[in-house]
Amino acid sequence: MIQRLLIYSFFLTFGGVIWGQTHFGPPSLQEKIAEHNLSKTCHSGSNPGLIGTGRDAFSKVEPPQWFTPGADRMSNIVVSYSQGFPEEARAALEYALDIWGQILNSEITIWVNANWGTLNTGVLAQAGPETLHSNFPGATSANKYFPGALANALSVSDLSPGEPDLNITFGGEINWYFGLDGNTPGGKYDFVTVALHEVSHGLGFIGSATHNGNSGFTGVSGTPLIYDVFVETSDGTSILSFNSGTVDLGEALESDALFWNGAEGWANSTIGRPRLYAPPNWNGGSSFSHLRENTYPSGTENSLMTPFLGTAEAIHSPGPVTEGMFKDMGWSMDLISENCEILSAVSGLQLPCNPETSTYTQQVVITYENNPTIGVIVVNGTTHTIGSSPQTVTLVNQPADGLPVDVEVYFTSQPDCIMTFPAAYTAIDPCCLDLRILEVNPVTKTITINNMGNCDDGLDGFSLFSDFSEVDLVSLVTPGYVFIAGETLEVVWSDWDPTFLYTNEGELSLVNPVNQVIDYVQWGSPNHAAELNAVANNIWENHDFIAGEPPFIYIGTGGFGVAEWSFVPYECNVIEASAGATSECDLNSGLYTQEINLTLLDPPASGEITLNGQGFLLDGDNTSSLSGAAILATLTLEDLVSDGLTVDLNVTFVADDACGAVFSEVFSAPEICFCLNDANFDGSINVGDILLVLAEFSCSAGCTADVTGDGNVNVSDLLSILAEFGQSCI
Ligand SMILES: [Zn+2]
Repeated sequence: MIQRLLIYSFFLTFGGVIWGQTHFGPPSLQEKIAEHNLSKTCHSGSNPGLIGTGRDAFSKVEPPQWFTPGADRMSNIVVSYSQGFPEEARAALEYALDIWGQILNSEITIWVNANWGTLNTGVLAQAGPETLHSNFPGATSANKYFPGALANALSVSDLSPGEPDLNITFGGEINWYFGLDGNTPGGKYDFVTVALHEVSHGLGFIGSATHNGNSGFTGVSGTPLIYDVFVETSDGTSILSFNSGTVDLGEALESDALFWNGAEGWANSTIGRPRLYAPPNWNGGSSFSHLRENTYPSGTENSLMTPFLGTAEAIHSPGPVTEGMFKDMGWSMDLISENCEILSAVSGLQLPCNPETSTYTQQVVITYENNPTIGVIVVNGTTHTIGSSPQTVTLVNQPADGLPVDVEVYFTSQPDCIMTFPAAYTAIDPCCLDLRILEVNPVTKTITINNMGNCDDGLDGFSLFSDFSEVDLVSLVTPGYVFIAGETLEVVWSDWDPTFLYTNEGELSLVNPVNQVIDYVQWGSPNHAAELNAVANNIWENHDFIAGEPPFIYIGTGGFGVAEWSFVPYECNVIEASAGATSECDLNSGLYTQEINLTLLDPPASGEITLNGQGFLLDGDNTSSLSGAAILATLTLEDLVSDGLTVDLNVTFVADDACGAVFSEVFSAPEICFCLNDANFDGSINVGDILLVLAEFSCSAGCTADVTGDGNVNVSDLLSILAEFGQSCI
């Protein structure tokens, strides 16, 4: 691999030595390198390039439209700062690198050495590529030198690993303005501008031509730079067709008529071929490798790469000409497509009008081709991430005025890729209703609504929602109904089937055309279907509900929540009684116990309840919540006499005579189990029982004296009585 690189690429590292300019004769290779270095061609000692004019220009060129501050760079650029490089200067340099970084595409990291030093008087900064490469894989032109960063990008490999790709030195004694806003005050030089200019040189805006006062020279040890390839005279003669070291070339270089003939640079120019700086007296470091000052004066969009910079002059854009020149030299900006075209913009989904703002949401489906992928797509002034065609963009808060809408679409990175589609869709009609629920009665299924707004409108899009049932309000009124401002409307939702468990339990949402819950009320129990939605819209508190019966009437003055509603208080009520477990008849006492389940509503706070004369205290051990205000009480009646009979239940509250109930035949007592031998039920087992057995002896049906229960009156009954003879049964 290394060998291959050695074969294909010859790379040259420029040293730090600044050589004086040769006067006559062809400069040596070393001198050419030195000349190249000092100018790079900008800004060096004897022949300064970007000259600080010291005159306030009070001009400003804004960053390119494709530039988004803080957005990702298309290429990774890493700066190594020298000691003493001020923090604010670093921020300004990084900002300049962001600008190039957002358009130049390289997969190979660009390494920048940034130095803070002392330069000759009037020199703002100097810069140039650190390495040059030729004939590497990916080179777009044979036998030409490419600056390191461009060569790496083209070959998709680092051709000089460990080496910086460009060097920049900024003058430490310049009266700099480090702000990023381009509002450069009088007397100060805009650092971002100078950084952007120097970085441009380092990335490739640099030619090889030199002049010794007599003859002109091109090439570095005989090899031209890629920049040179595109330079021509006014009659279209390539500068490389002149022999290096000739007076003819020298004259061409001082002709004030050198042009760039690259197709991209030319295409981006509004005045024909871009014109280079080639003054009649060779200006080393400035001539050849800049745009012509008088053609691109201060404040114009292509003025960055001219050789002079004023104070109070900010140029934060490379300008289309320089961008095109970079493309000509091989820099990939192919993310910006020349053939970009926006083909159509048609209406997609149109959402209903939001009455709060009389606005709506409109989707527009845009088709385009050859689109750039950096920057954003702008649709009627709103910015959207660039997707893939056909792309649906959503325009929110569009004014609902019922009028046709033109759609203008363009890409920020390529503002000339723009198209306007007249009357692409029609806006929705205006809307204005401001509705509130005034009264709800789930028993009569009536709902009263107030138009609190100040205009009249139809009810289109409004709906009522209750535990997964929904109804459009328009279906509850006569066709064409217009809700007059300030009036109230009572509707009957006859299909509504609100829940009744032990009490009325449910919810009602009023939903506007854009599916927002705009009013809400919940009663009887929490956790109904739309509760969370209402909570999210700040019109109800979590788990709040009206603990009472309808009608529910809004008594607030505009606020929301359970406290704003009146209702009929629950009344104490014994809703239901049922039998729980029944114990066996106790053989020793003849008694049993009976568990009773009571469904109670709003019992008195004292909790004292009486069941068939037995008193209980309701508490957490014997009650549980059912739903809403209903509770289940489980109480056990003790010492009941087993007599096989059905039992009614009489429930009363000590603190509320009016709240009570009698339930018939709630449970049945077990059959009697005690003193079965007291055949004649006279309270003791005695001779009377024996006499009854004898009287019914041999009875086999309906026999009173069959104390053993075997169906017959016989000797076993006698023996049973004798076994308990004399026992009292009371
Ligand atoms: Zn320059």
